[in-house]
Amino acid sequence: MSEQTAGVQALTLHTITEDNWQADLRDSIRSASALLNAVNLSADDLGEHERAALEFPIRVPLPFVARMIPGDPHDPLLRQVITDRAETLPAAGFTEDPLEEANANALPGLIHKYKSRVLLMPTSACAVHCRYCFRRHFPYADNRLDETALANIINYIKQNSEINEVILSGGDPLILDDIALDKLMTVLEGVTQLKRLRIHTRLPVVIPARLTDVLAERLQTSSLNTAMVIHCNHPAELDASLIQRLRQWRNRGITLLNQSVLLSGVNDSAETLAQLSERLDDAGVLPYYLHLTDPVAGTAHFHTDDTQAIGIHRALRAALPGYLVPRLVREIAGETSKRVVS
Ligand SMILES: *Cc1c(COP(=O)(O)O)cnc(C)c1O
Ligand code: SF4
Repeated sequence: MSEQTAGVQALTLHTITEDNWQADLRDSIRSASALLNAVNLSADDLGEHERAALEFPIRVPLPFVARMIPGDPHDPLLRQVITDRAETLPAAGFTEDPLEEANANALPGLIHKYKSRVLLMPTSACAVHCRYCFRRHFPYADNRLDETALANIINYIKQNSEINEVILSGGDPLILDDIALDKLMTVLEGVTQLKRLRIHTRLPVVIPARLTDVLAERLQTSSLNTAMVIHCNHPAELDASLIQRLRQWRNRGITLLNQSVLLSGVNDSAETLAQLSERLDDAGVLPYYLHLTDPVAGTAHFHTDDTQAIGIHRALRAALPGYLVPRLVREIAGETSKRVVS
């Protein structure tokens, strides 16, 4: 094969991979009945599921469903994405915006809460709807990032010289395709005070094909120091193919970190979390944060209490090398950083 044909073939393969992740997005499961069907389960309270979904619809990509164990109603991956009647019940102390993010919403599409770093939300959409999500009530409709909004954000950053890092968050920023991300990165790279770019995303976990070579290359060659923080809660989310893809990214020199949320009935045991850290290590990803849940309305059934969380974290420290132990943290409205617990 001549070099030229090899090049064309590589390009074609590329395109196929990229189309795949977008097809996976499009073909996601969007109802409790379809989701339960896909894992050989049924429910006699479908009405309750539908009622919970009115508030925050079901959305689950098929590659994530493929990692669930069929027939197991307590599957830890299923539990993260299936509606629960508990969501519609009032729970004392659980409110819509406990972090008071609305107060830190400096401009549409921007949250500036911690001095040196801002959250930029290029999209309100997510590939997966996590039932425990603390942004499930966020007023995203007011946070659409068009060109004017982006220009305003850049101005805001320039006027606040202590900002040196932009964190792409959301929604899920990797919903944007590689062309849109490239454009956004180019704008940010033009702001000389910025040193770091961080991407917080759950997309690679639910659709591993989102880890395209084009994006890896773009991050690798950026003038900013780039890091990607994935969001993985359970070792079963890290199957062999995802581990292999993440490894490839790590080998290209991209800093990979993970954040998890401590979730009742999903990962609230030291054994599970130790196994998660071990698999992350296999994938070249360092555990960063283990978040305590925020008291967000509709998520009380995932809540763990502090005493239990601290006990789990202590057992984790005993089981793992220090660098594989995530920091146990909680977000507190009005504080200058996340608060380390235990
Ligand atoms: C978590 C978070 C950050 C990033 O904090 P780090 O401790 O640097 O990871 C920035 N802004 C907001 C609003 C956050 O919630
Ligand atoms: S991916 Fe993140 S922002 Fe989106 S629903 Fe899940 S937890 Fe919430």
